[in-house]
Amino acid sequence: MPNVSFIKPLIYLDNNATTACSSEVLEAMLPYYTDLPFNASSTHIGGRAIHKIVEGSRDKLAKCLSVRKYELFFNSGATEGINWLFLSLLKENPDRRKIVVSSVEHKAVLNSAHALQAEGFQVVELPVSRDGTVSLDIAKDIIDTQTALVSVQFANNETGVIHPITELAELAHQSGAIFHCDAVQGLGKEKLDLTDLGVDCATFSAHKVHGPKGVGALYIKGGANHWKWKLPFQGGPQENGIRPGTVNVPGVVGFGKAVELISSHLAEHISYLRELQVCLEDGLKLIFSNGIVHGEKAQRIPNTTNFCIPGCPSDMLISNLSRICISNGSACNSGTIGSSHVLKAMGIPDEEAECCIRISTSTKTTKGEIEIALEEISRTAKKIGEYMQ
Ligand code: PLP
Repeated sequence: MPNVSFIKPLIYLDNNATTACSSEVLEAMLPYYTDLPFNASSTHIGGRAIHKIVEGSRDKLAKCLSVRKYELFFNSGATEGINWLFLSLLKENPDRRKIVVSSVEHKAVLNSAHALQAEGFQVVELPVSRDGTVSLDIAKDIIDTQTALVSVQFANNETGVIHPITELAELAHQSGAIFHCDAVQGLGKEKLDLTDLGVDCATFSAHKVHGPKGVGALYIKGGANHWKWKLPFQGGPQENGIRPGTVNVPGVVGFGKAVELISSHLAEHISYLRELQVCLEDGLKLIFSNGIVHGEKAQRIPNTTNFCIPGCPSDMLISNLSRICISNGSACNSGTIGSSHVLKAMGIPDEEAECCIRISTSTKTTKGEIEIALEEISRTAKKIGEYMQ
């Protein structure tokens, strides 16, 4: 057992990076590592039983997203799903050579899109307004009959701002383009009805909703055979050939359990997270009267706050907090922070962007933890302010 005693008293407020696996989820997964190790593709009694278990998880996710079971494919998570989609769908679309993405997408989308430039695709980034939302008027001008794919996230991981997905999907369809939604930060924080939203594809990661790391799902409207594409991965027929390779049974079981927990308490969870958000943002604004909540007036998911403390560099603040884990952007951009592409796209000047923190809660966060975090952030920022003078 590794010695983790040093991290026990920490207050974890970086849940958009990853969440703690629920004990119920872990408990549900364990037998599939030990007593029930069977391969879901095996035809023996054990394999057939496991196949049913995997299908049970698919059922739970399908119900949660209001889609059909055969439209969901388990994989290792959103980054894989996004790469899969860009590689397969676009290679089969010789007449349409334009990809439209929002400028505030996660790097999994932005880099997947830009990588296809080398293959002759034009990538156009949709600008966002100062509050962080994609403008529909500009999107109308950009999405055209040359467009193969439009990809816009449900909610931004740095600001929590929600985009007008239904309208964007409609615009894409009017031009004959496919619409993908990176829904990683929406699951468990808003009701996600993919059929109502009208998206063609969507991607998810279990570890953002108290599920295990390394498992996720790709939604493809109409199922595997609905679209004409070139499959990027070769191997066995698992997941209808969309994702060859032995199915991560414990992971899929854990994802199913996490989704079951979300689905049964969604309204309650959203209202609890909203309460925490109000408590946190009221507290921050009281302490830092010149502070700014980015995207405050926009529709946002209830667990995310992006807050600027003018004059207090966020990397200095974060590294001096002794008990509180917060961030200043996407975890996968660490090391390049200081110039978040999201805040830049919102027109926030660098000197302001460098003083922004992201606080992301979960249903496991308590009001007491928010109070302690506010106190420590206040104390540490004050010290930094004195040092900087
Ligand atoms: N999209 C968004 C909006 C995210 O926040 C993340 C993870 O931070 C991803 C995609 C990638 O998810 P994963 O690292 O689980 O593949």
